[in-house]
Amino acid sequence: MQYVNEAFNTNWVAPLGKNVTEFENEVCGYTGAKHAVALSSGTAAIHLSLKALGVGKGDIVFCSSFTFAGSCNPIKYLGAKPVFIDSEYDSFNMSPTALKKAYVKYPNPKAIIIVNLYGNSANFAELKKITASFDTPILEDAAESLGATYNGKASGTFGDIGIFSFNGNKIITTSGGGMAITDNKKWRDKMLYWATQARDNAPWYEHTEVGYNYRLSNICAGIGRGQLQALDDRVKRKKEIYSLYKKEFMQNKHIKMCPIPINCEPNFWLSVISLGKACQVSFMDILNKLETLNIEARPTWKPMHMQPVFKKVPFFSHLASGSVCEDLFSRSLCLPSDTKMTNDDVRFIASVVNEMTV
Ligand SMILES: *Cc1c(COP(=O)(O)O)cnc(C)c1O
Repeated sequence: MQYVNEAFNTNWVAPLGKNVTEFENEVCGYTGAKHAVALSSGTAAIHLSLKALGVGKGDIVFCSSFTFAGSCNPIKYLGAKPVFIDSEYDSFNMSPTALKKAYVKYPNPKAIIIVNLYGNSANFAELKKITASFDTPILEDAAESLGATYNGKASGTFGDIGIFSFNGNKIITTSGGGMAITDNKKWRDKMLYWATQARDNAPWYEHTEVGYNYRLSNICAGIGRGQLQALDDRVKRKKEIYSLYKKEFMQNKHIKMCPIPINCEPNFWLSVISLGKACQVSFMDILNKLETLNIEARPTWKPMHMQPVFKKVPFFSHLASGSVCEDLFSRSLCLPSDTKMTNDDVRFIASVVNEMTV
């Protein structure tokens, strides 16, 4: 409220101002990135990042299949061609095995979007060995993983450009917003230019390129500055919620918590469970049952290669038949994970799920 009030009091109710600059500086401070651009959404951040990496009409862009549509829609905005890559069980994120298969058919992707789902980092150690040998620039979609670390380094800093989302459902929010971070000043300047209608340096409105109206407002950035101060507490509480679910499901042989990948300290954004293959109830049965108790749980992201809009897009699986992300989608669900939940709330939800499945 303090930062938002300040914006009103100083009459900076605009897409620029102190909060925008400070929010960028503070995210740089938090992550260790050199530069940041605050934008109107995570999707806008992906759009401009891909453009900065040189993606244009007809280019191939690799992308995790197990993700939200915001990850890959911008590939289509640019007239480029997505190629979807399967997940691995260890992190739910991009499978190095599937990625290798994709390179056999498409050795020259213009960029790769690697997504960190549910607060888990992707396996960058393995993935980067592969992308480096093909010189593919990485866009790290850290929309869901702000506050997580991998090898002790902030999530979002493993690509050439990283992006965050501050949509209402994310671990911190600006009501709607996003950010791109990078160590490359040239890309940062380019993204800022495109985000502000590509206005050239001239006394009148001069444009040599097509631009966008993608900047974050000074009011929303004020919300973000306040939220950022709460981030570490949220991660701590999210971890407690995850651990409590884990404890409650310990005796239940049909339920597995989403794994914590090696060398990763997740932000535990959502507690996800997967049902064993012998379990008699489906994830939809559980969602419906919880719904009758006024408890909202959600399916996991339906993989992009299964979406009608992307049905002609090539997909490379981790497995010889079927795929890991289809399998995970068919038997997993996101449990309520809000930091305002009490331990009793968590225990109650777990007891409902346990009663249905054991
Ligand atoms: C939320 C999300 C996005 C898009 O962010 P918006 O701010 O909603 O545009 C992109 N990728 C992933 C993985 C997300 O969860």
